[in-house]
Amino acid sequence: MGKYPFTKETQDYRLLRQNYIAEEDLLKSEFTILTDRAKSRILQSLEKGIVDFLPDMDPEIEIWSFSIAMYIVAAIGDSYLRRRYALAEAKRVYEILRTDQRERLFKIAVETFNWNIKKEMPNFGEQYDFALHFVNYLANALIFQDDRWKLVNRLLTNSYVFLTREETARLLEEEVRKFIESRLDKTDAIIHIPPSELSDEIRRHLDLARKKVEYEELPKNAIIEAYPSCIRQLYDHVVAGQHLSHLGRFALTTFLFNIGVTVDEIVKLFANQSDFNEKMTRYQVEHIAGSKGSKTKYKPPNCDTLRTHGLCLLRVEECRKIKNPLVYYGRKVRTYG
Ligand code: SF4
Repeated sequence: MGKYPFTKETQDYRLLRQNYIAEEDLLKSEFTILTDRAKSRILQSLEKGIVDFLPDMDPEIEIWSFSIAMYIVAAIGDSYLRRRYALAEAKRVYEILRTDQRERLFKIAVETFNWNIKKEMPNFGEQYDFALHFVNYLANALIFQDDRWKLVNRLLTNSYVFLTREETARLLEEEVRKFIESRLDKTDAIIHIPPSELSDEIRRHLDLARKKVEYEELPKNAIIEAYPSCIRQLYDHVVAGQHLSHLGRFALTTFLFNIGVTVDEIVKLFANQSDFNEKMTRYQVEHIAGSKGSKTKYKPPNCDTLRTHGLCLLRVEECRKIKNPLVYYGRKVRTYG
């Protein structure tokens, strides 16, 4: 259970044992081992992007440290930290699931996430381990960029998509990420602020991580303050690790490329996304930049198109007569010269 502290099985176990820790007890010395592991979970998410799996760790410590970490992250109330933590925990789960017993994947899929999944199907063949109903499949695979996840490229029988164990683990990773993120977003449940002894260190690391994103990883030759609001919103979402629609990705990538941001810098920008695949992202960015495929250098979609897809925010008066985000940037950037 310590490996999968988010599952229904773990929650039932805690309810059965009526196990809880009062917030005021968190700083007591007997709980230091739990709070230390909780803090390390969060710091690892900021520094490495994945929470370590410690196979020899006492399951009770893993279960409790996960709950305490969730509490601290939700209470700090920072969307970048929430996304980053959810993703790092989900990546840890994927690393364990891909080599865990087939039975274990099945149990988590059914009991915790209510997936309509089968272990046996006619014509399964040796290469497949599961068959997942296409509704559950699409709910998790739609954000993946790799063509192998497209429904047209899958073996589909009677509404079920055939999957290997590794693919099932990857889809579960996405489900776990969404599950943790949705729990963390329910900040209404947090009525107490965690003791500063627990949260101060994390806030410091969060500030450092943020600065690293702002000053080291992001475009150096672009003036962010001159982005129109539509692009700024897409950009902020990517930095926070949130997903963009296909058009959103295209608009942001074409915009950045056209204002002089390099392919490497754009690829780095997308690294926070849960489905990040460097090879695939690089290929797509190079394609848009015209160095691959049709050699066409694409421009961002016009404002009319962005408006039709709900991506135009029209927040400022200067946007009123703008036809393309690049025009806005070009005008605005002159005011910084
Ligand atoms: S008018 Fe154009 S530049 Fe301005 S927010 Fe809308 S889409 Fe972006």
